[in-house]
Amino acid sequence: MAKIGFIGLGNMGAPMAANAVRAGHAVHGYDIAAARCAEAAAHGVEIAADVGDAASGADIVVTMLNAGATVVDVWTRVAPRLAPGALMIDSSTIDVDSARRAHAVAAEAGLLSLDAPVSGGVEGATAGTLTFMVGGSDEAFAKGQPLLAVMGRRIVHCGGAGAGDAAKICNNMILGVSMIAVSEAFILGESLGLSRQALFDVASNASGQCYALTTHCPVPGPVPGSAANRDYRPGFAAELMAKDLRLSQDCARSSGAPTPIGAAASALYERFVDAGGRGVDYAGVIRFIREMEEQ
Ligand code: NAD
Repeated sequence: MAKIGFIGLGNMGAPMAANAVRAGHAVHGYDIAAARCAEAAAHGVEIAADVGDAASGADIVVTMLNAGATVVDVWTRVAPRLAPGALMIDSSTIDVDSARRAHAVAAEAGLLSLDAPVSGGVEGATAGTLTFMVGGSDEAFAKGQPLLAVMGRRIVHCGGAGAGDAAKICNNMILGVSMIAVSEAFILGESLGLSRQALFDVASNASGQCYALTTHCPVPGPVPGSAANRDYRPGFAAELMAKDLRLSQDCARSSGAPTPIGAAASALYERFVDAGGRGVDYAGVIRFIREMEEQ
């Protein structure tokens, strides 16, 4: 079994690390938040003194952090602690340029590397059913695949360095746009006297079917597990969706790709977060849209 370093033990990282422990790996973890370390320790993660310590002598290091600059900084500190041929995997959702910078840091130290962001949320991280979208060399993919298979169910090799984050950013632009569309449809349906359940029963079996409707349904009732049934406690926080949509717009600007609805969704999530949406599930955007309706 491999020695794994796991850095970033938050909502996603902690359950992912716990699944690696369950599979029999020796997992040395670190998070700057002491409370996160304590939670992970309860699941068998050995807590290290710092980032370098968590990585020291590891076969594979996984990072699960919030921002591209943090990932590059952590990888820069971790790389000298690894033997040539060891593998670094970043599973955070970050911009493609930072992902490529992180790959370059690893390559300079003679390490293999993957960007491997995930889809599936905290539920998928806990159940070990995440989808991984992976960028990097065939050799790095072959080395990382068995560990990713412990934490996820579908592992898609999307291409070279940065391709995993590119796929994730495009996927989440679909999710952000579709959550807004589903929210608007429920608000419109209600204004026409249509019950939530009736609209759900039709759209979930018709051409309006999508993940934002059938898994993260923004109104309480039709999908008992959705955040709408727990007053929009996340789940997937609105500020993370705003970040992902911002990434999509950064990419659209630098590549010249037209994404007019993505731009509108990005602007709406920014306004929602600024108006008090921070720490609220991204499905809570329906409340923000309702308030616009009342103005
Ligand atoms: P989180 O904020 O719960 O976890 C991030 C953790 O990183 C925090 O515990 C923080 O203390 C730690 N951290 C920050 N800087 C650090 C450093 N320098 N060294 C060590 N630890 C550090 O966020 P999350 O929900 O776990 O999301 C992590 C990533 O996964 C994000 O990029 C997010 O976009 C992505 N993601 C989240 C979800 C979701 O449903 N939450 C789903 C898919 C992808």
